Amino acid sequence: MSETGAISIDKIRGFLESKGVKPSFQRLKILEYLLKHRNHPSVDTIFQALGDDIPTLSKTTVYNTLSLFTQKGIVASLTVVNNELRYDVLKDPHAHFQCAICSRLYDIPLKNDLFQTDFIEDHQVEDIQVTFKGVCKNCLKSRNVLDKTS
Ligand SMILES: [Zn+2]
Ligand SMILES: [Zn+2]
Repeated sequence: MSETGAISIDKIRGFLESKGVKPSFQRLKILEYLLKHRNHPSVDTIFQALGDDIPTLSKTTVYNTLSLFTQKGIVASLTVVNNELRYDVLKDPHAHFQCAICSRLYDIPLKNDLFQTDFIEDHQVEDIQVTFKGVCKNCLKSRNVLDKTS
């Protein structure tokens, strides 16, 4: 598999250690997957993708690992889409756009200061989730095609 990304397993190992997480092979692979696939995968998606490579992996392990990562502030668990929890590696704060038709979650960069939390007095903010909902550009495109042909 050729990878263009610059994320090495060594870097991921160092990152986990810096967060106080023991970098087991399974944890490394799960975080590597999340870093390479920025499409907000669910536990099922990750389990299916890694299950072939790691025969000892169970769905419970994936779930527990993601819970641990969430606790440690490494990933964020996101809004439930179709009864599935989706996960996101925390990078710069960003909003999401959730499509009502294909259920995809898109990352939306925010250019304003919505994520400045100075105005929230005294409370300690640990997570910010902004989700825009609607119909995504791909679904709009196919919808327009359908409109024209009907
Ligand atoms: Zn869509
Ligand atoms: Zn995201």
